[in-house]
Amino acid sequence: SLHNTIQELKGNIRVFCRIRPLLADELADKDKLPIKLPECDDENEVELWQQSESATGKMSSKVYPFKFDQVFGPDSTQDEVFDEVSQLIQSALDGYPVCIFAYGQTGSGKTFTMEGSDKNEGIIPRAVRQIYETTERLKEKGWEYTLEGQFVEIYNETIQDLLVVAGGQDTTVTANSGGGGGGDNSKKKLEIHRDKSGRTYIKNVTTTRVDSTDAVNRLLAQAAKNRTVAATLCNDRSSRSHSVFTLRISGVNVITSESCAGQLNLIDLAGSERLSQSGAQGERLRETQAINKSLACLGDVIFAVGNGDKHVPYRNSKLTHLLQDSLGGGNSKTLMFVCISPSPTSAQESLCSLRFATKVN
Ligand code: ADP
Ligand code: MG
Repeated sequence: SLHNTIQELKGNIRVFCRIRPLLADELADKDKLPIKLPECDDENEVELWQQSESATGKMSSKVYPFKFDQVFGPDSTQDEVFDEVSQLIQSALDGYPVCIFAYGQTGSGKTFTMEGSDKNEGIIPRAVRQIYETTERLKEKGWEYTLEGQFVEIYNETIQDLLVVAGGQDTTVTANSGGGGGGDNSKKKLEIHRDKSGRTYIKNVTTTRVDSTDAVNRLLAQAAKNRTVAATLCNDRSSRSHSVFTLRISGVNVITSESCAGQLNLIDLAGSERLSQSGAQGERLRETQAINKSLACLGDVIFAVGNGDKHVPYRNSKLTHLLQDSLGGGNSKTLMFVCISPSPTSAQESLCSLRFATKVN
């Protein structure tokens, strides 16, 4: 069918839409929501309704329909979302490069989807658990896995290490600590290099062997700590940087001598909101331009990959350059969550996010 042909052309790129519920302070708006899920017809569709008033005072609404590989409404649970993700986690274990992105304006539910909260774990902790449970089980069949974690943040087109331990005990960092080693991790700039076999890597980045869920949890806690330090230096910074958690998974089967090497990248993107024209100045303007540019580049790369283009413009942003090996190279698999706030005050940003999604889908 035509639908299948499109799926094949698209390769391994999927786009899911997730609409978060109204928050306590938004409930007053519950009768005028611009985001609607068409009732019976199609579970993969979402509509944005835009109200406008004509010169004569007549109200009219314009409806924009969008289609996705899957739509998760405001009542969807973390369990239901992860059910649709766990196969991709298995792919990373099977030796595929996998990227899962969360895209959307600040406050749309990206971090809730990727990390979740204590009681509502998101994709990262669930993925980690699935990986360890599976590797434990595969031991019986002769598989031995090595897992290595890395966590960086891309802020204003510079890559920063979220796993550096303050106080200089860190021995993996040998050079390039720009800030003078005063414990200010946010100053350490990292560069992307390419090894002899053509693989992209970050020079001098902290890479940690993680051989248990506890070890990964310590890694995630260290990253969260470094992000908090950075946040006090720059207010609300986490929403203006991309965070990229990478787990390299290599397996060797001691019985059959088979081997595999997969990679799982879990990316909480910077907020996609545009800055109001008037307020944009100085540092804030530069930040916003960097974010807009890198999100546009990500869209271009995914579009080019989906389109089967010979030239994919990976080098136009740090994010796509960093993820080059995992985005579109032959057997890679990509999933993009487009996160949407249902609130009427977000309608314009929601429309932009839905349009971005349509471009890459
Ligand atoms: P972002 O990372 O995109 O800025 P957050 O993930 O921090 O957004 O979400 C904004 C707020 O909405 C947070 O308080 C979060 O707990 C809440 N939230 C987001 N998604 C959901 C959801 N699916 N269910 C319940 N609360 C959610
Ligand atoms: Mg967030």
